[in-house]
Amino acid sequence: MIDRTKKEPAAMKITPQRLAILEYLEGRKTHPSASDIYKAVSERYPMMSVATVYNTLEVLRQTGQVRELVIDPEKKRFDPNMKPHHHLICLRCKEITDVHRDFKLTLLENERCNYEIIGNHVDFYGICPKCQKKRTVR
Ligand code: ZN
Ligand code: MN
Repeated sequence: MIDRTKKEPAAMKITPQRLAILEYLEGRKTHPSASDIYKAVSERYPMMSVATVYNTLEVLRQTGQVRELVIDPEKKRFDPNMKPHHHLICLRCKEITDVHRDFKLTLLENERCNYEIIGNHVDFYGICPKCQKKRTVR
């Protein structure tokens, strides 16, 4: 059963705040957290509330316009790039960089556990150039 009482009206209502968040996310290559988004957007829209940012992100997630990343469990990050891609993640500053390459990863018959495979995602962990520089200065 689909519960239409809550989600759909909210998803369709286009408010200036919601537009501002969409504009901020559109084409963005960084992977901002909700508080990053709030900080940036509330500069232009002082009426913006943290709750609006969270609610909007939830609607965008449910409607497939943004992906929620669970890299840092204490600080969810959001990815507006819905094309299949992988990530480079800095372990120091938690910067996330897109990697666009099809690694042609496959599972053998006996590894697949009878799953119908839909996709995959690879995270590369490391130290970004900025953090490497900081390390040599110290
Ligand atoms: Zn870094
Ligand atoms: Mn990404």
